[in-house]
Amino acid sequence: MNIHEYQAKALFGDYGIPILSSRVIKQDDDVQSICETIKDQAWIVKAQVHAGGRGKAGGVVIVRDAGQLDSTVTSMLEKTLVTKQTGEQGLPVNTVLLEELTSITREIYLAMLIDRGSKQVAIITSAEGGMDIEHVAEHASEKIFTHFIHPAAGLQPNQIRDIGYALQLEKSQIKQLATILQSLYQLFVDCDCSLVEINPLIVNAEGGLIALDAKINLDDNALYRHQKLQEFYDVSQQNQVEATAKKLGLNYIKLDGNIGCIVNGAGLAMATMDLVKHHGGEPANFLDVGGGTSQEKVAEAFKLVSSDKSVQSIFVNIFGGIVRCNLIAQGILDAQKEMGENEITLNTPIVVLLQGTNAEEGKKLLEDKSSNIIPVDDFADGAKQAIALAISA
Ligand code: GDP
Ligand code: MN
Repeated sequence: MNIHEYQAKALFGDYGIPILSSRVIKQDDDVQSICETIKDQAWIVKAQVHAGGRGKAGGVVIVRDAGQLDSTVTSMLEKTLVTKQTGEQGLPVNTVLLEELTSITREIYLAMLIDRGSKQVAIITSAEGGMDIEHVAEHASEKIFTHFIHPAAGLQPNQIRDIGYALQLEKSQIKQLATILQSLYQLFVDCDCSLVEINPLIVNAEGGLIALDAKINLDDNALYRHQKLQEFYDVSQQNQVEATAKKLGLNYIKLDGNIGCIVNGAGLAMATMDLVKHHGGEPANFLDVGGGTSQEKVAEAFKLVSSDKSVQSIFVNIFGGIVRCNLIAQGILDAQKEMGENEITLNTPIVVLLQGTNAEEGKKLLEDKSSNIIPVDDFADGAKQAIALAISA
């Protein structure tokens, strides 16, 4: 789960990582009167969206003129911000973070993330941080340094010194860096993070290190043990179909293709996507309705996948182990009926492969019920038909 910069900075504050004094304003707040009380100083106004690249997209604005504060905040709060990382549909700005201005003499890149290869937390740093870090990574990768933290030994003093020298920091700054790295690692472990990124970590005119930006990604599988962090969830920043799926308890991930997939079991869902790709098609989603799924859940899954406008054919692939195939077939019919009642016409062809418990009963239920349901008996044949139907749609 991603969280906002202002939420990440609140955590930084708890862990003693230096941040600037700030103020959060939300859409429902009385923007005018808040701005009236704080306008006697200059602010930097920052759009809170779950994406980077805001600086280059008008999402970070310096306001020095007191008369401009209210209008800048208001117009930012009405925005849908499109950055390099949001996709062309952008993300809605419901919250802005106002921070005091600071002098900047250097911008450093600092991140910690889980490195699956080494099974350790990696520290990634560069002396050339800031808004062009992607360019540095691509064209001057020798300027990016990686260190690993051994889970038993923890962060070692010699590693901190190495990082400090690589970042060309002075002695007093390396001391500050040591505190920041230790606190950041503690936060990383305590909160079950998968990524913490500070870009830029700045050096101000007095030689002080301050986190100017903050990005945190939390491990979803560990969220159950962090009540407080769960409250950071912001549904407005999620793909809407993914958000609905989460509410329904379905494992759904939106993909770029046009073949909707409804499958039970994550392994079979992966195999289904592999086979679709193998035969030259592109899946529109990953969807695992669960091992012991129900008629209702299949109906919900079906409505969900049908609501995706890029879907041109649907491939339903169910192996009935615990689940009975006749219930799955009934779930599909229920969803179609409900959509019909709500005047949603569904012309999308649906290729259905039912195997296992009560497969024959399931197929019988589907026979002749609807012209756009195509029952198949073979996995590869199902994938090929779904692809062909998507092409001709
Ligand atoms: P991002 O583009 O989404 O990563 O947003 P950042 O929070 O990193 O802000 C983009 C850039 O704005 C930073 O790299 C800084 O150069 C600049 N910036 C952010 N805060 C301040 C500030 O308080 N003072 C000044 N002068 N520049 C700032
Ligand atoms: Mn940044």
